[in-house]
Amino acid sequence: MKNKAQSLVKMYTATGEFLGVFIPPELWGQIKAPVQEAVERLTPPQAVKEPLADLELLKQHWDFQYPVDTDVQCKICGAETPDWAADDPRKFLLKAASLGGLVSYECQTCKARVKKMHFKREICVECVPCPAKACK
Ligand SMILES: [Zn+2]
Repeated sequence: MKNKAQSLVKMYTATGEFLGVFIPPELWGQIKAPVQEAVERLTPPQAVKEPLADLELLKQHWDFQYPVDTDVQCKICGAETPDWAADDPRKFLLKAASLGGLVSYECQTCKARVKKMHFKREICVECVPCPAKACK
């Protein structure tokens, strides 16, 4: 026979709505690992959303005097790629793209922001360290 320390306790509101289950610490210590595995299996991490539609719009209206560029370099940590979208896992995540030509990426190594400003004849690149690191 189970004692109270080994039993799950279902919890309800005053109106009878099921809230969830309380797991006593003694029992949690025994079932923690398989429960966490089950939760991870049932709730896969959501894919990171990148503003790819904004980038596509920029490509469709591309009127710069050079082809669409795919290379990204981080001047902060030295990470680089010839084609950011082809990397698996990604070295850089697209964070923003505007019709004006500003495209920014987040370096996955040091979290710096790499901003590529597309002008008519040239691309200017600016790297800004992660705000949390800049404060150290
Ligand atoms: Zn970096």
